[in-house]
Amino acid sequence: MTDIAVIGGGIVGMCLARELAMAGRDVTLLDSGHHAGTTANAGSLHVQMQSRFLRMYPELVPNLEASLPLYPEAARRWRLLAEDLGADIELRQSGGLMVCETAEHYEFLAQKCRREQALGLQVEMLDRAALRRVAPYLGDAVHGAELCAEEGKLNPLLANEALRRDLQARGVPYHIGHRIARIEAVREALLLHGTDGSVIRAGRVVLAAGAGSGALAGSLGAPLPTVAEPLHMNITEATAPLILHLVQHAERMITLKQLAAGQVVIGGGWPARFAGPQDFPTVEAASLVGNLSLAQHIVPPIGGLRLLRSWAGVNTTADGQCILGPLPQEPRVHVAVPGDAGYTLGPLVASMAAALLLGRDPGFATDRFTPARFSRAASG
Ligand SMILES: Cc1cc2nc3c(=O)[nH]c(=O)nc-3n(C[C@H](O)[C@H](O)[C@H](O)COP(=O)(O)OP(=O)(O)OC[C@H]3O[C@@H](n4cnc5c(N)ncnc54)[C@H](O)[C@@H]3O)c2cc1C
Repeated sequence: MTDIAVIGGGIVGMCLARELAMAGRDVTLLDSGHHAGTTANAGSLHVQMQSRFLRMYPELVPNLEASLPLYPEAARRWRLLAEDLGADIELRQSGGLMVCETAEHYEFLAQKCRREQALGLQVEMLDRAALRRVAPYLGDAVHGAELCAEEGKLNPLLANEALRRDLQARGVPYHIGHRIARIEAVREALLLHGTDGSVIRAGRVVLAAGAGSGALAGSLGAPLPTVAEPLHMNITEATAPLILHLVQHAERMITLKQLAAGQVVIGGGWPARFAGPQDFPTVEAASLVGNLSLAQHIVPPIGGLRLLRSWAGVNTTADGQCILGPLPQEPRVHVAVPGDAGYTLGPLVASMAAALLLGRDPGFATDRFTPARFSRAASG
């Protein structure tokens, strides 16, 4: 019997298992070994609000603003984690540019910028001339941008590997390839039934299983509307240092950045699809072409680079906000699912989840993140 079982070995699960081990708890980490956002993501450290979402879903603005303070803190936590791991994960807070192509969109960004400044973010507007000085690699199509100093990038392959090594050094049992089909609550323990017929007994459980969390909560009768969203990524061959910032578009789906070794990582939410008997995330040709065309439109030198690789990964969506805390139906089971830009939020969400589990102060008000909101909504 383990004291705490963490289901899901993505960024949240790994950081959470690490925090619990550091607090002297007996913790076991279980992961099915596929379909993660953590192993597929682009390594962008996002802080500023997405202009496109604000325009598309104005009703969500209060939620987005309420979650905003998490993001600069999340970027700070990544810095601390990198230092603590003693690993070079290519973390650079070199600033993030949200670019736009029209005067109308520039004005919308400027309004967003004023609101974010009032909420404490380090943001400023750059017109075309100012942008030419700080980001000469941007093409003529770009009219202006909002610069957020706290944004940046890291290399997820290095960060994930450093975390795995750290967990190993701490002796945390980490079972990869172990998929939990359902959770059964009996009086003295929680029984984790594996798809291979195995049963693990745990005193408490944390669902850090990304899009898989909903089905596990469902096995206990708790509604948790996590949805798996397959997304496309591209990476170019290496080139000389060109792009300093994290670059994203205010109105269109694109993020891009350059890794330390020179490759340009291009993503931004273009769709992939599930295929095959195991619903494996699979690339779509239309996304490959669309994503690269837009990248070249924003940063023309990208057009001269060869595509090295494309892949697809699984993002998790719910209602855009974090889901943190105990299930009302079974308080021995907690949830730790990050909101939008979940890799950025991973270490912070893990430490908030650990605090809630251990009865400590999570540092932020977590009422609005409770899983109970979905039960309330389901009961009308
Ligand atoms: C292509 C792509 C690019 C992205 N780019 C960025 C970015 O640049 N910046 C950013 O901040 N965010 C980005 N994201 C989002 C980010 O990757 C995710 O939000 C984040 O990784 C979520 O971490 P997690 O630990 O909650 O879940 P995941 O990383 O999804 O991990 C969940 C784990 O749980 C396991 N699991 C699921 N069900 C079960 C089960 N029943 N039993 C056992 N194990 C189970 C899975 O195998 C998986 O390993 C991107 C996502 C994608 C797909």
